[in-house]
Amino acid sequence: DGPVLICHLGMSGSFRVETAGSSEVPGSFHQERSKIAAHDHVVFDVTSRKGVRSSIIFNDPRRFGFMLFAEGAPDTHPMLAGLGIEPTGNALDGPLLASLLKDRRSPLKTALLDQRLIAGLGNIYVSEALWRAGLSPLREAGTIAGSAKKAKGQSERLAEAIRSVIADAIAAGGSSLRDYVQADGSLGYFQHSFAVYDREGEPCQKPGCRGHVERIVQSGRSTFYCRTCQR
Ligand SMILES: [Zn+2]
Repeated sequence: DGPVLICHLGMSGSFRVETAGSSEVPGSFHQERSKIAAHDHVVFDVTSRKGVRSSIIFNDPRRFGFMLFAEGAPDTHPMLAGLGIEPTGNALDGPLLASLLKDRRSPLKTALLDQRLIAGLGNIYVSEALWRAGLSPLREAGTIAGSAKKAKGQSERLAEAIRSVIADAIAAGGSSLRDYVQADGSLGYFQHSFAVYDREGEPCQKPGCRGHVERIVQSGRSTFYCRTCQR
């Protein structure tokens, strides 16, 4: 009952709890979180029933995080209510992916970036997953959602590619562009190596493929793909 505070950590946010000189950052992060006071944006001063006072501090160097007050159940808030399924785990399989893409005329890449269908699948991961699955980002999304055996195989392959791309990214550091704290305390970029993303003009890495990686723009975002093996 009463208002709910919705907090999103964005890329680099964290909460820090300080109690009488001790400080801890709850949660599990692959990279160490910033504790630099210049990036403290919100401080909650709280007192426990036993009278112990603590500060709960929201720190976010990149400032992609946010906080919102909501009335009622948080999952009905407009920021959360329309979100699609999570791309992690085994829930995303061929039949589910096919049901999401069924009858969609938009390009496959564009549909996969639609947060109302799949939540949190980013631009880089979509390019990588389509390359792994051997599917063109330009093909109509609904074409892999038919009842034919071929379409079933394609949606199965793409679901598997999405799951594996996400799993690999988590294993490699949780993000495509990973944070690291530089000597001066600021956060810098460390770019992973991707199979196609940001590799325009380079030979395709798929065994036996003689194609090259091309860059095109779809819905204002870069897409990298190989037209030889992605159909
Ligand atoms: Zn290729």
